[in-house]
Amino acid sequence: MAKFRAPEPFSGGIFLTYKCTSMCRHCMYACSPKWSEDWIDVKGAEKVLTILSERLRGKYPSRSNTIGVNYGVHFTGGEPFLNFELLLKLTEVAHSLELPSLFVETNCFWCVNDKVVEEKLKRLKSAGLQGILISANPFLVEYVPFERIVRCERIGRKVFGGNVIVYHDLFYSQLKRLGLKGRISFEDYLEFMVKKCRGEIPLALSFNSVLPMGRAPYKLGYLYRRYPAKVFFSESCRRELTREWHVHIDNYFNYITGYCGGISLGDARELDSL
Ligand code: SF4
Repeated sequence: MAKFRAPEPFSGGIFLTYKCTSMCRHCMYACSPKWSEDWIDVKGAEKVLTILSERLRGKYPSRSNTIGVNYGVHFTGGEPFLNFELLLKLTEVAHSLELPSLFVETNCFWCVNDKVVEEKLKRLKSAGLQGILISANPFLVEYVPFERIVRCERIGRKVFGGNVIVYHDLFYSQLKRLGLKGRISFEDYLEFMVKKCRGEIPLALSFNSVLPMGRAPYKLGYLYRRYPAKVFFSESCRRELTREWHVHIDNYFNYITGYCGGISLGDARELDSL
């Protein structure tokens, strides 16, 4: 039987939890409020961050300060701001280990007023965080009022300057054009798209914006062409499983290399032996 070594990571996301305030139809890991509060253990997280700092050494310019979706290290989930003190603690640890391009990913549920947002982002920045990735898409705004996402972007730019990523830009501009206030169902969003920007639908629902994994095939599969399982029998997951450019490590320390919510290469705390 062929064996392969776990690839050397270039960038990674650390899950604090699978718990989330939302249940987005496209969620890669089917996160939801129903998950238990299994927060990542701090000691284990310290070990993983230490390993990552060793593995990433020399791969980034010293004092690397730019952030990118597949660049550096970020905290994610689930929703990291559900446990702000843990997020703060892990940011301090990651900063002390000089992990490059450190940022957090959020759904903005907590951005209820300017004061709260500015205060939390400034505390994170003081702890060493370098930027923020803000989720914006039609699946999230079924749960989180759009104003909170806009607020996070505005104040995020004040605190982190250029180190703010809105993911996904295309969706964000569509929701702005829609003049959205509050929340909207995915069905209403689609109706708007069909009426006002029909030409953008294929791109909005293509591979880059929606990954066919997690909850998406169950909740959005009806929008795509379907194939019988035998069509995929000759495919190989090898490239996905040996992917190094971005890995995920979840709160159970599963080392997940590809866009796969179900296959772990092993315990990230034992990366040397994988
Ligand atoms: S906000 Fe993010 S983590 Fe939460 S359900 Fe939506 S996609 Fe998943």
